[in-house]
Amino acid sequence: MSDKNALPHAAAALRTALLGHATEAFFAQRLMGPAPTQGAVVENILCYGQHLEIVFDDGIVMHAQLRRKGSWHLYRVGEKWHKRRSRADIVIETGEWVAVCFGASSAETYRQLDQHRHPRAGRSGPDIGRTDADLQECVSRMMHYDNPDATISEALLDQRVMRGVGNVFRCEILWACGVHPWARITELPQSSILDIVLTAASQVRANLESPARVTAPHVAGGLAVYARNGHKCSRCGDIIALANSGEEKRPVYWCSGCQIAGEPFRELDQSDPVARLMDPHPAAVLFMSDFFRNREAPAGL
Ligand SMILES: [Zn+2]
Repeated sequence: MSDKNALPHAAAALRTALLGHATEAFFAQRLMGPAPTQGAVVENILCYGQHLEIVFDDGIVMHAQLRRKGSWHLYRVGEKWHKRRSRADIVIETGEWVAVCFGASSAETYRQLDQHRHPRAGRSGPDIGRTDADLQECVSRMMHYDNPDATISEALLDQRVMRGVGNVFRCEILWACGVHPWARITELPQSSILDIVLTAASQVRANLESPARVTAPHVAGGLAVYARNGHKCSRCGDIIALANSGEEKRPVYWCSGCQIAGEPFRELDQSDPVARLMDPHPAAVLFMSDFFRNREAPAGL
């Protein structure tokens, strides 16, 4: 590609079309590594020079490098392509759009792993998609989590607690239970943990058959908060927020108006000098919360 801005522009177009949508078909010529699972949601698209990274919510990241004359095209499903299909190196199809890469020099995938999610770091928890999964065991693993500083957001994706919760479900479960994503597990009562595990099992099981996830049928698109940042919450009318979580910088969507259980700043000790300095206005609290969060995990979107 002669224009050095071509790939960032393509990445922006791909983001608009694909982010938050489930993958209905995936193909990559000479793919090195595992393919994303069918139905995996496109969660992030990053661009570095001639390299593009597509992050799927099942933990698969695809890294594609373009040849000098390579390019990404975006078509509506059913629209005629400008080049022959046999020349496509990568094809990612969602319900509405098809992203096609012609002239990729490589397509590699890897799994985003951190030590918590790595199977060798501990015995993995029950698969909550199975009807015979021991949910009490999941509750117990969460109650006795080995890191007392961990947030509920981290624990929900930890395969040692339970298996089957990807990032879309994580956000949707916390909204359904009214729990703040940065609530520390140790601050949540057992009834809340039980509610979270039961909601997780019912959401995951209700979506086993279909690639398009629906956890909030009353909301257009079927999801309450995921990829709905800037929109109004269907429960309280507040605006849905977006932040990044953990070392993997995965996006977390939540409503600060009604997901207040375990919210860190509501329970601050007023004798704490930092707490006394804080502006009590809700927008200031949100800003401060983002500020602290960003210090832990620099924005990756
Ligand atoms: Zn709300």
